[in-house]
Amino acid sequence: NNAILEVKDLTKYFPQKSGFIKKTNNYVRAVDGISFSIYPKETFSLVGESGCGKSTTGRTILRLQEPTSGQVLFKGTDLLDYNKREFRKLRKDLQMIFQDPYSSLNPRMTVRELLKEPVLTHRLVSKKDAEKLVQDIAEKVGLSKEQLNRHPHEFSGGQRQRISIARALVLNPELVILDEAVSALDVSIQAQILNLLMDLQEELELTYLFISHDLNVVKHVSDRVGVMYLGQMMEMTHTDELYDNPLHPYTQSLLSAIPSTNPFQKKERIILKGDVPDPANPPSGCPFRLRCPKAHERCAIEKPAYQEVKSNHFVACHLYDQSENPKQARISVDP
Ligand code: SF4
Ligand code: MG
Repeated sequence: NNAILEVKDLTKYFPQKSGFIKKTNNYVRAVDGISFSIYPKETFSLVGESGCGKSTTGRTILRLQEPTSGQVLFKGTDLLDYNKREFRKLRKDLQMIFQDPYSSLNPRMTVRELLKEPVLTHRLVSKKDAEKLVQDIAEKVGLSKEQLNRHPHEFSGGQRQRISIARALVLNPELVILDEAVSALDVSIQAQILNLLMDLQEELELTYLFISHDLNVVKHVSDRVGVMYLGQMMEMTHTDELYDNPLHPYTQSLLSAIPSTNPFQKKERIILKGDVPDPANPPSGCPFRLRCPKAHERCAIEKPAYQEVKSNHFVACHLYDQSENPKQARISVDP
């Protein structure tokens, strides 16, 4: 096992509030027991609709929010065992890039100061060497020396994202979590930033956890993909396998919504009924059953096991249950 990151049975429950009163026995299950591994220099993506728990997963790995339970092993040691001070030292190896660079960049600082700040905070090198690190990373992300003297508001959205990428990478991290890192940008700019991220990954030997709702982008950048729904993993496999041969009805519906690249391949759009259920009140059995076109009786009674149904292809759905093969009528269960 040479995983750089191993997430085991991670949960994050938020107590549900009604007005000012904390209801003690009702929880929003934002992340509800997910497990995955990421290997060095690969890009592993988490996809799903907004509110499925993918951002919370990223934030709990970095302990920007403390998880409720589970393990987060970084190169074999559980990050959750460290106290806050010890963890801060480790944080230079684990960086995060967010959707909106503007809110994370102090408008009063110049780009040079913004890039120097993490280096000096972590006391990596002397002030003189810090300047060298800043210039190196600026050059790598495509910012000129002259631009280092400017302030964030003087840049476009795409340029600002270059600044936050430089800020994350100046510490020479091993794992970078990208949460909707290009979602706020125009499509043409998205491609530039994605290509930059992939070049930097190669050059700096980075490992990415790529969080996105955009299946086109995910297809382009990922080695493997995990599909989340209501805080749980529905399906996980290699990118080509997922896009060529999606097994889970939820994945099938997500993929049916993106335009086919093959004009001769007729694609039928699968429209899901209803909305994502309230994560404080998940349905019995399969979390997807209220919207699943293939839901049958068993789906309401029993939660499907998450299992490897083909080599390196995991899915949580009774349709692929290999332990037993109950020939049940595929009747639809009304909500
Ligand atoms: Fe649909 Fe049932 Fe499979 Fe859930 S277990 S995805 S409801 S067929
Ligand atoms: Mg999000």
